[in-house]
Amino acid sequence: MKFETRTIHGIKEGKKERLWGTSVDFASTFPVKEFGVTQEFEYSRVSAPTRNDVEALLANLENGKYGFAFSSGMATTTSVFTMFEAGDHIILGIDIYGGTYRILHDVYSKFGVESTFVDTTDLENIRKAIKPNTKAILIETPSNPLLDVTDIRGVVEIAKEHNLITIADNTFMTPYLQRPLDLGIDIVIHSATKFLSGHHDLLAGVAVTNNEEIAEKIKFSQVAAGALISPFDSWLLIRSLKTLKLRVEAAQKNTEKLIEFFQNHDAVDKVYYPTLDSNKGKAIHESQASGGGSVFSFKLKDDTKVKKFFESLNVAIFAASLGGAETLVTHPSTITHAEMPDEEKEARGFTNSLIRIAVGFENIDDLIADFDNALK
Ligand SMILES: *Cc1c(COP(=O)(O)O)cnc(C)c1O
Repeated sequence: MKFETRTIHGIKEGKKERLWGTSVDFASTFPVKEFGVTQEFEYSRVSAPTRNDVEALLANLENGKYGFAFSSGMATTTSVFTMFEAGDHIILGIDIYGGTYRILHDVYSKFGVESTFVDTTDLENIRKAIKPNTKAILIETPSNPLLDVTDIRGVVEIAKEHNLITIADNTFMTPYLQRPLDLGIDIVIHSATKFLSGHHDLLAGVAVTNNEEIAEKIKFSQVAAGALISPFDSWLLIRSLKTLKLRVEAAQKNTEKLIEFFQNHDAVDKVYYPTLDSNKGKAIHESQASGGGSVFSFKLKDDTKVKKFFESLNVAIFAASLGGAETLVTHPSTITHAEMPDEEKEARGFTNSLIRIAVGFENIDDLIADFDNALK
């Protein structure tokens, strides 16, 4: 089945008696049917019907065998990283999600897991960071907020040479636009809070792999730590995934029109997006993803007008997050990257004038009118 058919029909086996995804099972425990015989459902931290459904669907969409759903993107990352031990070293992209940086740098470091953060857009930086105890590489492409591109196949090649586990955070692309497992990545993770749920109304996360040994470790951590998605959120996510393709396409279409508008506006200095000629990773992005997605950033020429710009928005909302129906606009240097030291922000180009837009699927004329007014 093609992608959008799979988002709707998911896993059909044994489900012919009802429309798949229309019921939710809230049970936390299940009666023992026969003394001394283990059964599929016993206690829902271990296995739960609605969570199993959403996990099967998510695995299917990422072209993976094993899917695991958690209570948030960070719960996913935290749980996946329990597979490493004291003395292990992990390489991560410098522009990975701030929460991922924090859990590795401030929490896992206390348990003896070392991490090095490098600019993965240049593969040479990854090679240089590899040490005898390096166990894994985590990348995010395109990155946030400047939409820099990392060569997934290149990362996989290096990882194979050194026997490292590769992890890709695919939140910005969704499995509709980019499927890292197909390119050789070992584990795909998502904040399902973003595009996968798509309506800014739930927190969830997912990990998908084809590797049985890794799957067992993630499953163990799910049961041991219990950072699980709830039955209700599992059901909401199943419901949302049926429109994933429609939503991603609609938002991307709006994004392409908005970018054209921003690029031609006098008040705008530069626009950042994976498929623009000005992005040095354009060709790589186009070789590994089928679209640029619906997040872009731009710099205002006059950085004394940033506050006024945000205060002038009427349709778009000034809020963090991305991937939902509503267009959200955020200010990386004071919101998403607020904790970063000023010199670091300056060095990385996360200036006061930088603004990130996560485009929703309102009517494009309303969005253009809103941004035109704010820019004026
Ligand atoms: C939001 C986000 C996360 C964290 O997910 P939560 O659901 O907020 O815990 C991780 N990675 C990326 C790329 C994100 O955008």
